[in-house]
Formats: sequence, structure tokens, C-alpha cells
Amino acid sequence: MKLLEHQSKELFRAKGVAVPPSGGAIEDLGRLAAALKRAGRGPWVLKAQVLAGGRGKAGGVKLARTPREARELARQILGMTLISPQTGPQGVKVASLLVEGGAKIERELYLSIVLDRKAACPVVIASAQGGMEIETLAHERPEAIVRVPVDPDQGLLDYQGRRLGYALDIPAERMREFVALAKALCRVFLDYDCSLVEVNPLVLTPKGLLALDGKVIVDDNALFRQKALAALPDLESSRLEREAKRHGISYIGLDGNIGCMVNGAGLAMGTMDTIALAGGTPANFLDVGGAADQQRVTKAFQILLKDRKVKAVLVNIFGGIVRCDMIAAGVIAAVRKVKLKIPLVVRLQGTNVDKGRALLKESGIRLTTAEDLWEAAQKAVAAAKTAAEA
Ligand code: GDP
Ligand code: MN
Repeated sequence: MKLLEHQSKELFRAKGVAVPPSGGAIEDLGRLAAALKRAGRGPWVLKAQVLAGGRGKAGGVKLARTPREARELARQILGMTLISPQTGPQGVKVASLLVEGGAKIERELYLSIVLDRKAACPVVIASAQGGMEIETLAHERPEAIVRVPVDPDQGLLDYQGRRLGYALDIPAERMREFVALAKALCRVFLDYDCSLVEVNPLVLTPKGLLALDGKVIVDDNALFRQKALAALPDLESSRLEREAKRHGISYIGLDGNIGCMVNGAGLAMGTMDTIALAGGTPANFLDVGGAADQQRVTKAFQILLKDRKVKAVLVNIFGGIVRCDMIAAGVIAAVRKVKLKIPLVVRLQGTNVDKGRALLKESGIRLTTAEDLWEAAQKAVAAAKTAAEA
């Protein structure tokens, strides 16, 4: 789960990481005046709250010297479509705006904590080159990046913090403050079950160190014990993805036009690959799950058909624990319920496959069957092509 900058900074504040004075995030201009007041005397910084970086260059971060200027800039940012290298060409709409007191920047540093899967522990990554994207830096000047592994039971230790500080050229009189901040950021990472904590830039100001930006990703597998975070609104999923989740279906919308219904995540991935190999593009990833029943199959059908891009449907089920006759009955019920008007290709294999195929045949429903996945994928691709041209 990705957090917005202002949510990330709440976690920072809770663990004692210094952040700029906040006026809070607002969703309409009417709340600007109060937010400016909360953030102090100005100048202020107005920051688009979207789940993507590169906002500065995309016009989503602006400095305002007067309330009047703040109003004008807030009007521009709220509701704008922000396009950065991280949003894709379609961009994202800005629904909320963070108001903060502006900071006087002396130097910009980079500090992040990620999970190092190879070392099986968190690792702090730091560089004196803040503001710059770490991917670019890793490519162009890998020697400018330092890494320090963190023991998850102990957090960052003082000597490790100092080692980072020396590498970043932190002035001696600020070393203590820096070490405390680095340790606190590691506490954020560990206590909130994060897979990423990134501060870019971490800045030196005349008044001290500040986390000027904040990006946090919380491990979804830990959300059961991060109740406050789990209760935040889901900003990452589309409407259909949220609907699917409520029904226990794993669904991810994609760009193509072949709707897929598959049981098992591995088979779903294999199905998508095979569609691509046959020259088509899947409209979604959909795993109905191992314990799919008739109701869930119907629901899955309804969800994948709500995507208007879908020109053909491919059902690919391997009956192991689920029986093919049950799936067939589910498909028949679903097709009748949703009054399916687009081509349907069904490939069943496994437990009770004969019964399942017989049911499909007797139903009189217009569909194409296939013996194996390759045949099914080719038929679905051909059907989608014909339907798209019609
Ligand atoms: P990002 O572009 O999405 O990573 O957004 P950031 O929060 O990192 O902001 C982009 C840039 O805006 C920073 O690297 C800073 O150079 C600048 N910036 C942000 N806040 C302030 C501030 O309070 N004062 C000044 N002078 N610059 C700021
Ligand atoms: Mn940034």
C-alpha cells in the first residue's frame, strides 16, 4: 500500500522525524486560508498529493510568498492533471493539496530504507546528491551511494548512523541530530511494516534537518496488524478492482481487449502470456481462486464485462479441487444473467471435465470450446480481432 506524502509525514512525525510545519492536506480552496494559518507565517509550499513522484518538475510543487499568490497557485494545482515520468502519459488528477511552511534549503540529501531481499534485512541507502532520482544516480555515479544494512531486531545503531553521516558530509555539530533522524526513520520502516521509506530530499536548513518529502510503501501482507493504515482509503485500485476485492476475487485491470477468467494466479499469468504469444492483449488478470463457487464465477464474469474494452472472453479453468462441471454451471448461469453478447471461448481441463463439457453443450449457449490453452488463446485472439473490426 502506497501512502501519500502527507500520510507518510504523519508517520515520520509520530516517530520523531522532523518535517516542515504542516497546514494539512486540503481538497477545496475554501480551506486554504485556515491551512496557511496552521502552517505558519509563510512563505508556504503547496504540494500536489498524488501517488507519484517527479511532481516538482511537473508543476505540482510551488512556493507561495503571499496568501494571494497561494490562492492563485492552489487553484492551479487542485484539479490539475499532473503528468510526470512516474504517472504515465495519461497523468493523474490532483484531488488534494498539502500546505506546508517553506524551508530554507542549504543542501539536499537522499535517504531511503528498502528491503534487501538478498541480504534478508532492511538496508539504508543514502547519497549526498539529494533531489536527483536515485535510479539515475545509481546508473551514472554508483560510487556516490552508500548502503548500510539494518538489524530488524535492533534498528539502526549509533555507529551505523554516524557512518552514514560521514558519507553524507554532515557537519560535526549536526551529527547527533542526523543520527537521531536516521534512527527514527528506521523505526518508521520497522514499526509500520514498510517495504519502502524514502526521503528525497532530506534537507539541511539553518534551523536543522528536515524530511522535505516522504514516500512510504507498507507491506500489504502486514496490513492485518496495521489497522490504522489499513483503514485509510484505497487510492491505488480502480473501482472494478475494489469491487472484485470485496468478493474475494483477485482482479487487475489492463489495457487489452480479451477478458480472462482463470483459476489460480500462476495459470492466470500463463494465460496472459499465451494470449500475448498468440498476438492478442489481455484486458485483465483475474484469478477466481481455488474455492470458486457458482456465485463467484458469476460475479467474476460481471466484473470483467464491466470493462468496456473487452471484446472477447476467455475462460481457462484447470479443475483440481474445483470441478469442471461446477465451473461450467457457473459459466452458463453467468452468461444467462449478464446476457453475454461478445464471443466466449472456454477451455476446461481436469476433474469432471466430461461432465462440464456436456453441460456447456446441452445449454445451447453460443460459445467456442478448446482442448488446450494454445488453441483457446488463438481462438480468443481471432474472435477479439473480428469483434474489434466489426
Ligand atoms: P517530487 O518532485 O515529487 O519529488 O517533490 P518534492 O517534495 O521532492 O519537491 C520537489 C522539489 O521542490 C524539492 O527537491 C525542492 O527542491 C523543492 N522544494 C520542496 N519544498 C521546498 C521548500 O520548502 N523550500 C524550497 N526552497 N524548495 C522546496
Ligand atoms: Mn521528492
